[in-house]
Amino acid sequence: MNATTDSIAHSADAALDTTLDTTPDATLAAVLPAPTFDQLGLLPELLRAITDAGYTTPTPIQIQAIPIIMSGKDVMGGAQTGTGKTAGFTLPLLQRLARYASSSPSPARHPVRALILAPTRELAMQVHQSVVTYSKHLPLRSVCIYGGVDIRPQIAELREGREIVVATPGRLLDHVQQKSVSFNAVEVLVLDEADRMLDMGFIPDIKRILAMLPKERQSLLFS
Ligand code: AMP
Repeated sequence: MNATTDSIAHSADAALDTTLDTTPDATLAAVLPAPTFDQLGLLPELLRAITDAGYTTPTPIQIQAIPIIMSGKDVMGGAQTGTGKTAGFTLPLLQRLARYASSSPSPARHPVRALILAPTRELAMQVHQSVVTYSKHLPLRSVCIYGGVDIRPQIAELREGREIVVATPGRLLDHVQQKSVSFNAVEVLVLDEADRMLDMGFIPDIKRILAMLPKERQSLLFS
């Protein structure tokens, strides 16, 4: 973690509880059999989605991150793309939101509960695809928000109610200005590729967004 990431973490009021260490530990690996997804305590709906995706065993970062995130702790993790990081935070996040799953059409029953910020449209779309894949057996709704496209369909989706918002910072702030999104019920914040967001000059945007979120929340930061 660099100094800037550190300042964002602190400005988020997030005393991060846990730093993930994905360094392989030969001794531990030799003694302990890797747990299965089932043993990580995931809900049957999530286990079905994992099986549908064709995954048989959790990756090291998933083994580390899933129980900690499920317990509600803040996490800071350094993990490359390709390590299974996205499922590592998406699965426990969905597990935490599962108690709100509702088939009601009323927007009031689907306030934004989780906000996932990513630096680019491509990344936001990838993360959103993971959310869709892993939440397919749960009545939780999600939306992907990014710039460079007509804002109106995004406004329409937000007005219908979405528990999970995956967004790039700039367009999310456009929605704040349009009053099409409310953060009152946000319980989990994820900053994905946080280092890249800082490199791309998103600090002021991120600080503005963080200032609008409830102080009482879980914060997950990946770089
Ligand atoms: P990520 O590091 O999150 O970008 O994930 C990289 C790729 O690994 C994605 O295509 C995932 O679908 C896949 N993946 C994630 N978790 C697992 C797993 N436990 N077993 C097999 N593939 C996985």
